Amino acid sequence: EQPGEEQKHMQTTLVIIKPNGVQGGIIGEIIARYEKARLSIAALRIRNITREEADGFYAEHRGKGFFTELVDFMTSGPVVLLALRGEKAVEAVRQMNGATNPKNAQPGTIRFDFAPSMGENVVHSSDSPESAAREVAYWFKDSELVNYPAASHLL
Ligand code: UDP
Ligand code: MG
Repeated sequence: EQPGEEQKHMQTTLVIIKPNGVQGGIIGEIIARYEKARLSIAALRIRNITREEADGFYAEHRGKGFFTELVDFMTSGPVVLLALRGEKAVEAVRQMNGATNPKNAQPGTIRFDFAPSMGENVVHSSDSPESAAREVAYWFKDSELVNYPAASHLL
């Protein structure tokens, strides 16, 4: 459990805006969707990740046919690392991102609207509270996470 989650159902989840989302100029569009859903930004950084970092992050997929392509893609350009906090944030963000294969994604999801293919599906998000705890801690120190109530009164 991350700091500031004493409230029931409050969760922090890890999102990565993948290199094609960054290069495609939709960082702001994607983050705006999360803010409009009353998720607050607990941590945010843009940078390149190393092959070693990508390999460790996606350790559950080591040995699968798409693994090398996945690591190649994730290291092909800068990514945005984002920790998002809110009510049932893990499932909420999975729903907003849409199915892994954009061909199966619902209209209105980020992957339906922007992803050209399963391999380049624009966004990552944690798939369970346990994954979220591991993934947030993988990229961010506790001291880098901030806490504030999400609001939409200026939107
Ligand atoms: N992936 C792929 N081919 C596959 C399955 C996954 O290229 O058959 C890629 C895809 O980009 C996906 C990532 O590997 O986002 C991680 O796969 P996972 O099953 O964890 O999907 P996610 O949790 O991202 O929806
Ligand atoms: Mg996954």
